[in-house]
Amino acid sequence: MNPRIVSFHYTLTDPSGKTLDSSAGQEPLTYMEGASQIIPGLEKAMLLLQAQDKRKISVPAAEAYGPREESQIFEISKDKFPPGNIKVGDQFQAGADEDSPPFTVLKVTDSHLTLDANHPLAGIDLTFEVEITATREATSEELAHGHAHGPEGHGH
Ligand code: ZN
Repeated sequence: MNPRIVSFHYTLTDPSGKTLDSSAGQEPLTYMEGASQIIPGLEKAMLLLQAQDKRKISVPAAEAYGPREESQIFEISKDKFPPGNIKVGDQFQAGADEDSPPFTVLKVTDSHLTLDANHPLAGIDLTFEVEITATREATSEELAHGHAHGPEGHGH
């Protein structure tokens, strides 16, 4: 049997209860099981869920975006950047890989920037409130592509 395609709504909160992300008001998120389309700790917890199930799922940082690593924080000379107004909290993509997490500017001095290459959610224990909206079997096209093609299966 092909793996399942699962569609779900979610609200993501941090340990203080602050909402970090939510699918409310948008299409549900859809993924193929086993295709690493969502974080591992969340996928594992949803393996046994069926349409209409609601759950609160706690995912420790280690099974979400990993630990925050000091080695990912570094200083770089401002000359390496095009002149402009770079502020603390700015995020930008570095390198050619669009899927790599953005760098976040932690500190700006006259000559240097301190950058953080950790994923913005690294080191944070996450809580997801999920509601499964639908499950179905993956099509052979989805299997061949290695990802889900949306709730109803329409592709690119
Ligand atoms: Zn595809």
